[in-house]
Amino acid sequence: MNLARLLRRAAQVAPDNWAVAHGHDNLRRFGETEARVAALARRLLTDFGLRHGDRVALAMRNSPQYFELLFAAWHAGLTAVPINAKLHPKEFEYILGHSEAKLCFVSTDLAEGVASVALPGLRTVCVDDPEYERLAAGEPLTIADCAPDDVAWLFYTSGTTGRPKGAMLTHCNLLTMTMGFFTDVDSIDAGDCVLHAAPMSHGSGQYILPHVAAMAKQVIPASGGFDAAEMFDLMRVHPGMCVFAAPTMVRRLIESPMARSADSSNLKTIVYGGGPMYVADLKRAMEVLGPKLAQIYGQGESPMTITAMTKARHRDITHSRYEQRLASVGVAQAAVEVRVGGNDDETLAVGEPGEVLVRGATVMRGYWRDPEASAKTLRGGWLHTGDVGAMDADGFLTLMDRSKDLIISGGSNIYPREVEEVLLRHPAVGEVSVIGAPHPDWGEEVVAYVVGRTADGVTAAELDALCLDHIARFKRPKRYVFVEALPKNNYGKVLKTELRRIEAKNKAGA
Ligand code: AMP
Repeated sequence: MNLARLLRRAAQVAPDNWAVAHGHDNLRRFGETEARVAALARRLLTDFGLRHGDRVALAMRNSPQYFELLFAAWHAGLTAVPINAKLHPKEFEYILGHSEAKLCFVSTDLAEGVASVALPGLRTVCVDDPEYERLAAGEPLTIADCAPDDVAWLFYTSGTTGRPKGAMLTHCNLLTMTMGFFTDVDSIDAGDCVLHAAPMSHGSGQYILPHVAAMAKQVIPASGGFDAAEMFDLMRVHPGMCVFAAPTMVRRLIESPMARSADSSNLKTIVYGGGPMYVADLKRAMEVLGPKLAQIYGQGESPMTITAMTKARHRDITHSRYEQRLASVGVAQAAVEVRVGGNDDETLAVGEPGEVLVRGATVMRGYWRDPEASAKTLRGGWLHTGDVGAMDADGFLTLMDRSKDLIISGGSNIYPREVEEVLLRHPAVGEVSVIGAPHPDWGEEVVAYVVGRTADGVTAAELDALCLDHIARFKRPKRYVFVEALPKNNYGKVLKTELRRIEAKNKAGA
């Protein structure tokens, strides 16, 4: 089985349905799109000498080319490695090196950053150059045979050790995810579309497949990203619209000046997830946009596919436990088993909080070239999500907390350890601990608690410059708090829970 067959099927059955739009304009139909994809696939093998299973990286903002390159990679039996466009060149370098990608497609704005990466054997192609169009116009390739376990997408998440890990998502994982959308999340008709306002390298990219399976259209905003005014504008033009949005995006959308006046009748569904959604925000969103919200809970290791809550459940206001349900992440998806495990993975009783464990055909094969982390995360045949949750008697899961230290700011995951390692490079920094503090717009903001090594100390500006040199902008602390010492337990470990308490107290007293 090969995911590229979904596009082939759409091209055969509905060649004249629109497949891609850019901004307001419909760009290509399924017939033409598939011809370009089959030509690109041939060139990947003939012009670049790639072989079955080789990795092709995509360091691009959202664009129509993103969509065709994903399918071209699959069509040729290759593994796609989408990379978040917001990462720092050093992070690109790590992912490109670790995945051993032989070819990287870049958009103009990222071309310079990727070109500065000195990796032997890595070739780059800018999708905005005329060269790209030449690659997309040639003889077609027959779709490669792929085993269900062949890796289709190397999904790089940030690891808790600070290094990103590549979750190996197979053709079977992603096909099961695709079917799960229809069973557990929403319906899609052929005249519908998906708007990619979130990065196609992560959250939004997972919505490409169900829409191709339903022979519906991909809409790529001209800005290549999220802009509330642009979203409302595109809603006027493209009917039957589904959008994936992190909770921060939903909040920004409903706070936009256009929210109450714009015609959003073409908006069919907003699927939110990727971070906690506060009930008050959810209610406001439903009040402004109508009963159009659905929720998913997933992670890179089982994308989009742990639990879900349909629009119908969001609308079920007469249910006796409506409020609790709104605060939950819904019920286990049909394709997976979800349970809450204790210290030894034993299943906990209803209402008892523990780690969320997942088993099923959507769970990754493991982490790329990291057998130790794979064995640990998948021990006993269950995906250990690192999320703490509790299940109610009706099977609704509520997440109590995330894996203790993860910070989610503006829908992006930030691992404190990674930021701490950078700050500790400064010779005047003795100790540091990075935590997330609640923030009304971003969900959380990054705060660094710093203990100076020397009496002459260090300034926030110096630390900020250091971060800008090494990690993506969105990961750097928004505030620095200089302290004499960090709270620690008897083993000398920093107590982040205590630090968060101190932070909350300081804020309340401020
Ligand atoms: P990522 O691997 O980047 O997709 O991040 C996955 C993490 O985001 C999960 O392990 C959860 O901690 C969090 N997450 C995802 N979906 C939800 C949701 N619907 N509600 C709360 N947290 C979520």
